[in-house]
Amino acid sequence: MTIKPTDQLAKKRWEAIPGDVRKKLEDNVFCSSCGVTTIVNYEVDSTDFMIILKGSCKTCNGQVARVID
Ligand SMILES: [Zn+2]
Repeated sequence: MTIKPTDQLAKKRWEAIPGDVRKKLEDNVFCSSCGVTTIVNYEVDSTDFMIILKGSCKTCNGQVARVID
């Protein structure tokens, strides 16, 4: 599996955020079915210099994403 350089950078930037802040962001993701939920099993991606978390809703297992700017 090949990881794009931008994804590596996004991952590093994400991991540079303090753990308690990351936890708050993970717990504040919008799901179209459940409203505010927790993102699980996510991967870190990026676009336009913003970090994007792409994963699953903890409640309904639907696809959710969160932009970190
Ligand atoms: Zn959901």
